[in-house]
This record gives sequence, C-alpha cells and structure tokens, in this order.
Amino acid sequence: MVAETVAAAIREGAEQLAKTSDTARLDAELLMAEALGVSRSELLLRHTGDPVPPSFSDLVRRRAGHEPVAQILGHQDFFGRSFIVTPDVLIPRGDSETLIEVTLGIGGGPGKVLDCGTGSGALLLTLLAEREELQGTGIDNSPRALQVAAANAARLGVAERANLLHLDWRTPGWSSDLGQFEVVIANPPYVESGAELAPSVRDFEPAAALFAGKDGLDDYRILIPQLRDLLVPGGAAILEIGAGQAGPVSDLGRAAGFDVTLHRDLAHRPRVLVLQ
Ligand code: GLN
Repeated sequence: MVAETVAAAIREGAEQLAKTSDTARLDAELLMAEALGVSRSELLLRHTGDPVPPSFSDLVRRRAGHEPVAQILGHQDFFGRSFIVTPDVLIPRGDSETLIEVTLGIGGGPGKVLDCGTGSGALLLTLLAEREELQGTGIDNSPRALQVAAANAARLGVAERANLLHLDWRTPGWSSDLGQFEVVIANPPYVESGAELAPSVRDFEPAAALFAGKDGLDDYRILIPQLRDLLVPGGAAILEIGAGQAGPVSDLGRAAGFDVTLHRDLAHRPRVLVLQ
C-alpha cells in the first residue's frame, strides 16, 4: 500500500477488493473505521486526512481472501442495532429485516415469541428490543451459537426477557416443556445442498445454518407440522424463505391447516410467509 492518507488508502483498498466483493468501497470504509477504532460516519467526517493505520492493509488482505467483513469486525448491524458475530453464527442479513417488519406489523399485545434456530439472536432480540411487552424463547442446536446469542441479549439489555435453550427440532418431543406461543419465527436453514454459494458464505459461515437437504426444504418439512402444537389458537408463524420456495412452503403450511400470506423484501422478492 502506497497511500499516505486514510482517504487514499480507502480508495486503494476498494480497488483491491473490487475483484472479490460487490461492496468493495463500503468494505474498505468499514475496515478502515475498525483500524482507527471509530465509527464509519466519524471516519468520513473527521479522519480522511489522517495517516494510514498500520493494521489496515492486513484487514484488507483478510477480506481479499473472502473473509466476511462482519467476521473481521466481529459485529454486524441489523435493524439499527449492532450484533456480535462469530464464525459459529449466520451473519444477520438485510433481507431478514423483512421478517422483523412483518412480525411487528402483526401487532398484538404482550405475548411469548419462539425463535427456531436463533443463531446470533438477531431476529428474536430485535423483537424484544422493539417491544418491551414481549417475552422470548430462542432455541438452537449449536451451543456455540447460543453463547453468541446470550452475549447479544446482554449487549441489547434484553437478557431478562430472553430464554435461550439448547434444543433441536429434529429430536422428537423437543418442545414438550415449552408451552405455547403467540408468535413463532424462524429463519431456518433453507439452501439446497448442491447450491453454489459465494466463497465468503461457503468457506466462512456455518453450513449447519445454511443447508437443508436436496431442495432446501428439509427443515420446513419437520418444523411446519409442529407449529399447531407450538402456537396458541390464533397465533402466527412467520417464516423466512429462499428463492423459489414460496410455493412449496405455502403448500406445507396449508397442508398443516394454516392460511398463508406472502410478503416480499425490499428487492421485491418473495421472502416471508405468515401462517395463521
Ligand atoms: N439468506 C441466506 C443466504 O442466501 C440463507 C439463510 C438460510 O439458509 N436461512 O445465504
């Protein structure tokens, strides 16, 4: 790196990252903010003329090797809050904010919400932070993911309302002690086992959080028939789906006796199903 100022180094970094990242400029800014220990807005307002911090080129090298920015920084923003992220959890995606919008839009008063496959806790803990009257249960089959979720619950100040449990919906009887919920949410693994993923996903994010059999529907096939028992009468399940899954997952919902409504994400792709 030959750049002498932060602004020039960001430009150089972005050029280096352009081959491997669709968001090269943003990545370079976030890595620079991390190297300087400031926020991205502070960086752009106050530090562009500073000398280049020595750790920046190393961070750019890691990103050029496909390591996700969220894992390099150790955190990721989701719905306006910062969540701790490790290689043990799926990185919260902007697409999943649709599930939050839809769930908040359903309204209702105090209630219990269950998050199946909570991972970092981004979905469940966002709902708890947005609605003080909610009590949350988050389950995951990964103890390491649950540690991340617990750290995030503390970070957001909602730990007292977040019950995090090591459970697996593939184990018969897993939910027998949980009672019933007004709302069940899930962003389960839904990627087809043969799918070609970007190296930053394939080589760095947990496969167990992504893949769900040949057609990506294995976990929906197991979860959806169990929703009746998990929901109070009149309760709703809000599920994130992948490309091409609105039809088959809606069919699973109707076969389990639910009315199904589809919601689209900001890019207008089918993204969330409500089963009621
Ligand atoms: N949306 C994620 C991806 O496309 C997949 C998340 C999931 O399987 N639940 O990488």
